[in-house]
Amino acid sequence: MSVHAKKYDRRNLKWNGWGWNDATYDLKGHDDELFRVLSETTGATELPATPSVDWEAIPLKPSRIAKRTQATFAASLSAEAVVAVDAYERIFHSMGRSYYDLLRLRAGQLSEVFDLVVYPACVEDVQAVVRACVKNGWALVPFGGGSSVVGGVEAEKGEDHKAIVCLDMTRMGRVLEVDRYSLVARVEAGCYGPVLEETLQRQGLTLGHYPQSFEFSTIGGWIAARSSGQQSNRYGTAAAFLVSARMVMPSGELRTLDVPKTAAGPSLLQVIAGSEGMLGVIVDVTVRLHAVPTFRDYRGVLFPSFGAGAEAIRRIVQAGIPAAMLRLSDEDETHFLTMVSTMSPRKKLRQKLLDRVLQLRGMGTRPCILLLGVEEDDAAWGAAARDRALSIARECGGFHVGAAPGTSWYAGRFNMPYLRDIIMDRALGVDTLETSALWDNLDATYQAVRGALLRELNGRGAVMTHISHSYSAGSSLYFTFFFARDLDDEVGQWERLKRAASDAIAQTGATISHHHGVGRDHAPWMAAEVGESGLELLRGLKHVADPTGILNPGKLLPPR
Ligand SMILES: Cc1cc2nc3c(=O)[nH]c(=O)nc-3n(C[C@H](O)[C@H](O)[C@H](O)COP(=O)(O)OP(=O)(O)OC[C@H]3O[C@@H](n4cnc5c(N)ncnc54)[C@H](O)[C@@H]3O)c2cc1C
Repeated sequence: MSVHAKKYDRRNLKWNGWGWNDATYDLKGHDDELFRVLSETTGATELPATPSVDWEAIPLKPSRIAKRTQATFAASLSAEAVVAVDAYERIFHSMGRSYYDLLRLRAGQLSEVFDLVVYPACVEDVQAVVRACVKNGWALVPFGGGSSVVGGVEAEKGEDHKAIVCLDMTRMGRVLEVDRYSLVARVEAGCYGPVLEETLQRQGLTLGHYPQSFEFSTIGGWIAARSSGQQSNRYGTAAAFLVSARMVMPSGELRTLDVPKTAAGPSLLQVIAGSEGMLGVIVDVTVRLHAVPTFRDYRGVLFPSFGAGAEAIRRIVQAGIPAAMLRLSDEDETHFLTMVSTMSPRKKLRQKLLDRVLQLRGMGTRPCILLLGVEEDDAAWGAAARDRALSIARECGGFHVGAAPGTSWYAGRFNMPYLRDIIMDRALGVDTLETSALWDNLDATYQAVRGALLRELNGRGAVMTHISHSYSAGSSLYFTFFFARDLDDEVGQWERLKRAASDAIAQTGATISHHHGVGRDHAPWMAAEVGESGLELLRGLKHVADPTGILNPGKLLPPR
């Protein structure tokens, strides 16, 4: 077993939460203060303990694949492949890591689990698994890090399927080739973010793709779900840095050329990107690289309103200033983040003084923070980009507050998801959703989605929003909402919130997802996204790639 396969052994990872088993969010002893803030925010007067069930207590039906068939199947694979049927593996893989997933995992409510989990070690293994699934009528779900938040890896089968197999790609996790001259690398699909970056950075190179889930997601999952990293303004989104890909389909293999650009018809490469495991299994991809930046500068600018900050981002991006990150929190998110980061009495006092200064500066009592990040491999260039961006920010009413907020965000940029587990232990819920819209539709989308969530929460929660990916034509909007869980109807409560927000997104003409993808949860809104003719085209592609419909049933396409 390779060192990294050992490290990412599923037993080292939480089956019902985020990340490593032995890691958590460090509240630095301020647990009571955090829950006071949360109970104030959600109006929850009591926060009873709501612990997870133990995975060993979850009743599982035996695998629907007979032992003898399992043995024949395993024998058709390479010696390095692994076939697992034990309860931990079946439960761990049964769904992704959204709030809705954790709700059901923690309650032990699994309507389906995989009958078999397979870790292929090479392309021939993937081909053999696909053939076996077609032959036996088993559904097959490609699985990377399993960090989907839209139900993308849920164990699900069609009526005719006799069993469900999970294809965990993480044993195919090598960087196969680095071409320093063309600045590209060919990477196996199951390569985890840290493994990829460690390998590249040893050679002075980087992909620069850092989604918040970076440590626990794979390059195949990034491409399949069209992910966006926190510095996407500089390094591009997954679909943009993809140069070529190879995908094994039940109907054969699709391999695109290693070229920087082609005009040879519609882009099949961009059909692979976003295919979410329903057309084929991505086995390797070639991606565009950059030199590791020598200049990295993150700092904060406060604005009197979300609108003023958004205007600064629009102008910075449209001026072509190469900022790596422009992350603007609205009034409620800025307020919440300030409360969480100033829980000690000393920090509270310092914040009070700062608030006074800000009020004198005309910032009001609830400013919005923009985190401006610049990453360049030329320090003078980087400093010039930062200074130009700061100057536009000032013109839009921004007040530069120095590097401290940026440095602190950068240090903790992968930690927040651990906080969700702590919150869920105390009868609270927290979920996120995202969209994107043109600049001239951004405020209407913001108001509509926020309003829909607040109406549904009915005083029992709070909604916070930020912009984190921006383009010359518009930007993303990312909503986080906290709420007191309705312990008698947790799933119904989540369904109502999701429906309210997604309907609002569709009504404003924004997209159902800027970077999480569609999966099962967003499939009902795909008709609003691409229309009936668009859906028929996608169904046609599916039919050609996967004629018997074994791949990832129930995802991306709504039922007819
Ligand atoms: C706490 C948290 C933070 C997150 N932050 C971000 C963020 O900042 N940016 C962002 O874009 N997303 C984010 N996500 C969502 C998620 O991490 C991304 O969608 C990511 O791209 C999924 O990668 P994965 O390897 O975990 O894929 P999985 O979750 O395993 O799979 C995702 C989809 O891709 C398919 N798939 C996976 N591998 C393959 C393959 N080799 N071939 C074909 N299909 C495949 C699956 O079937 C599924 O449909 C976050 C999720 C969580 C839980």
